[in-house]
Amino acid sequence: MTKKILITGGAGFIGKNLTKRLLTTGHHVTCLDNFASSEKHTILKFQNTPHYTLVTHDVTEPFHVDCEQIYHLACPASPPRYQADPLATMRTAIWGTYNALELAKKTGARLIIASTSEIYGDPHVHPQPESYWGNVNTIGMRSCYDEGKRAGETLAVDAVRQWGIDARIVRIFNTYGPEMDPEDGRVVSNFIMQALQNQPLTLYGDGSQTRSFCYVADLLDGLIAAMTHEHFQGPVNLGNPNEFTVKALAEKVIQLTGSSSELQYLPLPSDDPKVRQPDITLAKATYGWEPTIQLEAGLKLTIPYFAGRIST
Ligand code: UDP
Repeated sequence: MTKKILITGGAGFIGKNLTKRLLTTGHHVTCLDNFASSEKHTILKFQNTPHYTLVTHDVTEPFHVDCEQIYHLACPASPPRYQADPLATMRTAIWGTYNALELAKKTGARLIIASTSEIYGDPHVHPQPESYWGNVNTIGMRSCYDEGKRAGETLAVDAVRQWGIDARIVRIFNTYGPEMDPEDGRVVSNFIMQALQNQPLTLYGDGSQTRSFCYVADLLDGLIAAMTHEHFQGPVNLGNPNEFTVKALAEKVIQLTGSSSELQYLPLPSDDPKVRQPDITLAKATYGWEPTIQLEAGLKLTIPYFAGRIST
């Protein structure tokens, strides 16, 4: 059935992919974004689509949109971007979430809060199940994002207890795919852009740190399953449990692009988690969801998108 759906951060990487999916499946989508960490020109393609509305607004200020479902995605998510203005990042994570919760209270809309694997910090438990409370530095370079997102989860569960709203929490692990911002400094976008231009691939540290990369189409299936499930509040991990070292990712990108790039070793940023891998037992049991697109296939779908961004 057609729904009126609000996506905060709808101009971001996941927001644009979700918009496309929801419009294609007949829903009405409102994108709310202030373009603080997204590229306005990349949503022009939606603006002539029926049932698409753009609201240019900062989530840290209260907002009202008539809607039945809210995907609250708004927040810079790339380490260089969220560390560039850490006070704004924490304000967005906390006040933005509070305002989204208030909107859910006023409208009765069902709300999904996009939390993150970063709430596990530099984990002592591996892989990370939802029951693990994490190992997070309160005063480091990543704290604005990690602690902001942790506070967002607290706000969500307290709003459910206190106001009786329908808010759900998903913890999104590293996701990649078309519509990523080539300039936002994340590892997949950096490596593909560098490889396509035969520039050195910037490997932070010795490249032995691990991440588990989820292709965006799989992530969307998980997000929509979390939204459409009858009642489950979560938190639920959404990610691909196939774990790779960052060095293995670099080598895979060089191989798939046929690049002549070399590896360039640079200092590891502080508090960079050494390992990360989602335990997705809960998502599998609750939604019957698990990713189907593995890294090589996903990179092959993503590389042409970045190639197009270089030539435009
Ligand atoms: N990284 C890297 N080179 C880059 C960008 C990132 O080696 O050009 C590393 C980074 O230090 C981290 C991992 O890749 O260990 C993933 O970084 P990303 O910024 O994509 O996301 P994170 O999972 O750290 O939030």
